[in-house]
Amino acid sequence: MKFSLVAETLKIMESTTKRLELTQYLVDLFKKTPPEIISSVVYLLQGKLRPDHEGVELGVAEKIAIRAISKSAGIPAKKIEHAYHEGGDLGQAAAKILEQKTQTTFMTEDITVERVYDTLYKIAELKGSRSQDMKLKYISSLLNDASPIEAGFILKIITNSLRLGIADYTIMDSLAIAFTGSKENRSILEQAYNVSSDLGKVAAAVAKDGIDAIKNFQVSVFSPIRPMLAERVKSPQEAHEKMGAEFAAEYKLDGERVQIHMREEKIILYSRSLENITSYYPDVVEKITKSLNAREAILEAEAVAINDDTGEFLAFQELMHRRRKYNIAKAVSQYPITINFFDVMFVDGKSCLDLSYKERRNILEKIVKEDEFAKLMPMTLVKSDNEVEDVLENAINAGCEGLMLKQLDASYRAGARGSNWLKLKREYRNELGDSLDLVVIGAFFGRGRRTGRYGALLLGTYDDETDTYPSICKVGTGFTDENLDQFYQILSDKITLKKDPRINSGLEADVWFEPEVVIEIVASEITLSPIHKTAMDMIRKGSGLALRFPKFTGKIRFEKTPENATMDEEIISLYNGQKRAVQEEKQNYI
Ligand code: ATP
Repeated sequence: MKFSLVAETLKIMESTTKRLELTQYLVDLFKKTPPEIISSVVYLLQGKLRPDHEGVELGVAEKIAIRAISKSAGIPAKKIEHAYHEGGDLGQAAAKILEQKTQTTFMTEDITVERVYDTLYKIAELKGSRSQDMKLKYISSLLNDASPIEAGFILKIITNSLRLGIADYTIMDSLAIAFTGSKENRSILEQAYNVSSDLGKVAAAVAKDGIDAIKNFQVSVFSPIRPMLAERVKSPQEAHEKMGAEFAAEYKLDGERVQIHMREEKIILYSRSLENITSYYPDVVEKITKSLNAREAILEAEAVAINDDTGEFLAFQELMHRRRKYNIAKAVSQYPITINFFDVMFVDGKSCLDLSYKERRNILEKIVKEDEFAKLMPMTLVKSDNEVEDVLENAINAGCEGLMLKQLDASYRAGARGSNWLKLKREYRNELGDSLDLVVIGAFFGRGRRTGRYGALLLGTYDDETDTYPSICKVGTGFTDENLDQFYQILSDKITLKKDPRINSGLEADVWFEPEVVIEIVASEITLSPIHKTAMDMIRKGSGLALRFPKFTGKIRFEKTPENATMDEEIISLYNGQKRAVQEEKQNYI
């Protein structure tokens, strides 16, 4: 298939943000795409080559891309840099420059999707000292044969700046319409996506064999499952209203969620956002098969740092010391952990997703052989508010964040946040209640003791409808000196020349960042704001929502992608909950 079909679709998609129109453009494209290459087309639309958990990264630096354009167009790199900085978009700058060139030369051959995809794949696989030259060679060969529009999109894809604002569910809507004739079937595609985390694979199956192929989509070892998520509750009473008479109360440990895939001796660990994190946990790989009574399995556990002498749980920050490229062995001995199993999704050829919590817990108790390293998550069946209070008290004394409350009859709902799992944290009892995970979008230079570092950070929520990061607060408290240094280091890699188009803020930061780093914040209240853009117009026309007295908790959420940050809807529901609480308090007072 000609790549021009994809490039033209991308071009018209850039001219709208309306979901219905975007869906229709994709339907038209998918109908023209042969099933053998639809997975490649879906990945390219997402600006990737493979699903994230496979870790195939293009990673072409802008400098190399500029050199490739310079080579193809026969124009000095400086001129291209200049055009880029004026417009802020390398793809568009390249398209314009190459437009002028093609008026005087002939193109040699049509480029196909297959060729673009294969070449980009080769680029991603290049490693070592000569890789930069080879990358340059491959990119130039594509640019030489590409039309200006095609070249623009190739450059956007390789420099990771294709921003179409199409969410996964828009792609699934379009696949459902194109291959099953009805958008209603999106939910079936979604289920397949939730168990495979691979939109390309789902697309290929539905394009080749229709909806029945999708219905039979199976859980399989080494394809991560999108995690089940919990809703917040503020009190045992609220939990009871949602859960009914009896439910399970598990400790909520403050560590990292790991999805463990195991077949014989082979083990892969995935994070909360399904990134492959096996390399950070060589101790799990080494020890875990001995603790499991199964040939193959997919399990979920919380990895928690512990004090080696006393066995006490330590805070999440301790665990994050393991997130490093080098000297992992040292980090493993310095920061020992335990693995605390809380769910099982697959065991010896059978999916457990449709089993109830009770049944899954029974299986878990059978297959986990507890020892110093591998544990079962402490669980108590509870019936009354007092019992919940007692378990909560014990959990907190043991160093936990709170409790996870789980419906006994509920199946494992992959990828869904619902009331079958509830989280009850200690902080929920005071002030705003919950902590929030926000994306660092900008920063302000520090003064006094903070000179030479950032004095305050500008933070945003994630709006999945528009794929944007509206600002919600500026935060300057809660930072230790070590944090300030760490932020300066981590964020300097993320600085952009211009504000990323997905950032939406009424404030002018001193520097803007690629929205990537997620940090945890607590605050006293959510208020209406004329400056901040979270939930703009949703509560009151012309106002967004902002945090009052925000404070950094000390946690950088390395395991979360910016799309996993707190969403606008969650802020609205916290705002509404806060209003209800004030009204109830007033009534009690009267
Ligand atoms: P999300 O709800 O989006 O995962 P989050 O990670 O900020 O966001 P938390 O408030 O931390 O949500 O609660 C869910 C997390 O709690 C899980 O992702 C998991 O890492 C952790 N956790 C600890 N103990 C348990 C448990 N017993 N069952 C399930 N999750 C647990």
